Amino acid sequence: MDLEQFRIKAQEEKATLVAFLNIPQDERPANFAAHAAEANAAAWRETDCLACANCCKTMTPAFTNEDIIRIATHLRMKPADFKTRWLKKEPKSGHWVNTSQPCQFLLPDNKCSVYAIRPADCAGFPHHEKQPFEEYVETFRKNIVHCPATYAFVKKLSE
Ligand code: SF4
Ligand code: SF4
Repeated sequence: MDLEQFRIKAQEEKATLVAFLNIPQDERPANFAAHAAEANAAAWRETDCLACANCCKTMTPAFTNEDIIRIATHLRMKPADFKTRWLKKEPKSGHWVNTSQPCQFLLPDNKCSVYAIRPADCAGFPHHEKQPFEEYVETFRKNIVHCPATYAFVKKLSE
C-alpha cells in the first residue's frame, strides 16, 4: 500500500467526511446501525492491515496495567523495566504510551511480535464496531487520515 498516496487522498476528502460524521445523531436514518455494519464489512474487503501497519508505524496504543504485566511477563521482564525501556506517561491523560514510533513490537513484515497478547487498545482498533457509534465519532474523525480502513468505512457509510 502506498501510504503517502493514501494520506494525500484522505486529506483531500477529510473535510467532506468530517462534515458527514458531524451530522447530528437524530438526523441519521433509523437503520443507521445496519448501514454502519455493511460499510465496515465492505471496508475490510478492500483493506489489508499487513500491507499497511500505519497505526503501528505512526500511532501508539495506550497500555493498561494489565497489558504491561501480560507483555512484560511474556518477555520475562519486570513491568517497571518494561515501562522504563519503552513507555512514557502522557501528562494529560495519564496513559502509558510508547516513547517512539514505529512500535517496538512491529516486525519488518508488518506483523506484531506480541500479536496474541497485544494491548487491548490494539486489539480493538480501529473501533468500527464499538457502540454507541456516537462515542467513537471523534476517533473516526481523527483516524480518517491515518487508517485506510477507517477512511473506507466512513466514505462507504457516507455514500
Ligand atoms: S487498522 Fe488501519 S492503520 Fe492499522 S494496519 Fe489496519 S488499515 Fe492500517
Ligand atoms: S503492540 Fe503490536 S499491534 Fe500494537 S502497535 Fe505495537 S506492533 Fe502494532
